[in-house]
Amino acid sequence: MLLQNKKVAVIGGGPVGLTFATLLQQAGVHVNVYEWDVSEFARIKGGTLDLLQNMGQKVFGKAGLLEDYFNNARPTARRFADIHGNIKERFPAFNNPEIDRNDLRKILLQSLRPNTVVWDRRFVSLKEQDDKFLLQFENGITETADLVVGANGIMSNVRQQYITGTSPFYTGIVAIAGEVLDYKIRCPNFKRLCDDDKIIVKYEYCFFLSQPKAQSELYYYICFPKPESWIKGNGLNFRDNKQISGYLDDLLADWDSAYKEIFALTDEFTLLPLRQVPLENWRPHKNITLIGDSAHGMPPYAGVGLNTGLMDALYLSENLTNANFKDIQSAIQDYENKMFEYASEAQQETTKNKAALFAKDPKE
Ligand SMILES: Cc1cc2nc3c(=O)[nH]c(=O)nc-3n(C[C@H](O)[C@H](O)[C@H](O)COP(=O)(O)OP(=O)(O)OC[C@H]3O[C@@H](n4cnc5c(N)ncnc54)[C@H](O)[C@@H]3O)c2cc1C
Repeated sequence: MLLQNKKVAVIGGGPVGLTFATLLQQAGVHVNVYEWDVSEFARIKGGTLDLLQNMGQKVFGKAGLLEDYFNNARPTARRFADIHGNIKERFPAFNNPEIDRNDLRKILLQSLRPNTVVWDRRFVSLKEQDDKFLLQFENGITETADLVVGANGIMSNVRQQYITGTSPFYTGIVAIAGEVLDYKIRCPNFKRLCDDDKIIVKYEYCFFLSQPKAQSELYYYICFPKPESWIKGNGLNFRDNKQISGYLDDLLADWDSAYKEIFALTDEFTLLPLRQVPLENWRPHKNITLIGDSAHGMPPYAGVGLNTGLMDALYLSENLTNANFKDIQSAIQDYENKMFEYASEAQQETTKNKAALFAKDPKE
C-alpha cells in the first residue's frame, strides 16, 4: 500500500476531514486530524445538513456509518411560505433526513480510534524537510507528516499558502444567520407556521430559510445582495442582538409578525458573506492536496457543499489505498482531476440557482 509506514496529517476536523480520516483508518493507515476547536464538545455553528442518496449516503455506507446517520437524523418536510405567513406548498420529507452538525461530528469521532483527532491545534504553516513535512501550529507546536490534506474550510490557509494563491471571491450576497433556543415555547407564532418543517420564503431580492434543530433550537438565515464594501462598513454590531433584529425588522418591514418574533428572540446572530473558491490556478504541489470546502467551497443555493466534500473523502481515500497507482502523487493527481469535474458542476448548479433566486434588482 502507498501509505504503508507513512503518516497522514489532515488539517481540519469538519465533516469532510473526519470522514476522510475514518476511511483511511479503516484501510489501516496512520492518520491524525489537527483541529482548531478546543475539544469535541465545542458547539459548531450552523444549520442542519443532509446526506444525499447518491453522494453523502454512498460515502457513509462505505464507512459503515449509514445506520448511525439515519438514527441521528430527522426527516424534515419543506414548506414554501409567503411573507404574510401563508403556506403556499408543502413537500414531504425526502429520504435524506437532516442532522445537526454536532451529531454528525459525534458519529464520526466514535468511528475513529481514540486520540486520532488532536484538538486545539491551529495550523499555521509547513515546510518540507527530508521528504517529509514539518507542520507548525499555534503556540510553537510542531508535528511531522508524509502526506498533508487540507480540510480546513472555505478560508483554508493550506490552500492559500501551498496550493493556489487565489482567495475565495465574494458572490455579492450576504446572509444574516440566527439561532433561537427553545423556539417551540418562546416563538409560538413561528412554531405554528413551521410545525417543525423547514420554511422557505423567496421574496423579491431576499431568500429566507429556517431549519428546526434537535432540542427545540431553530436555525435560520436571510440572504440578500450587498456590495462587498458593506461587509466591513455596515456599522452593525453582530453581538448586539437588539440592533440586528431591528435591522431585520426594517429590511423586512412588510413581513408577518411570526418572522419578527424569531428575529426578536434570536440568541446569536452571525454575518456570513457568501463566498466561492475558484477552481483554477492550482500550482504544482507534491504530497499535499485539499478536500471539502477548502478545495471548492460554494454558497448553499444547491445544498451540495458537504456532499461534494464527502465525495472527495471517498475518492482520495480509495486512490491512496487501492493499489491502482504507482505513487502518492499520481493517486492525488487522479483524485484532483475527478474532483475538478464534479466540483465545477456543483458550482455551476449553485450559480444557476443564485441567478434564479436573486433575479430581481435589490431595493436601494
Ligand atoms: C448557511 C449555509 C448553509 C449550508 N447548507 C448546506 C446544505 O444544506 N447541504 C450541504 O451539503 N452543504 C451545506 N452547506 C455547506 C457545508 O456547510 C460545507 O460544505 C461543509 O461544512 C464543508 O465541510 P468541511 O469539513 O470541508 O469544512 P468545515 O465544515 O468548514 O470544517 C473545517 C474545519 O477546519 C477547522 N479549521 C479551520 N482552520 C483551521 C486551522 N488553521 N487549523 C486547524 N483547523 C482549522 C474548523 O474549525 C472546522 O472544524 C451550507 C453552508 C452554509 C454557510
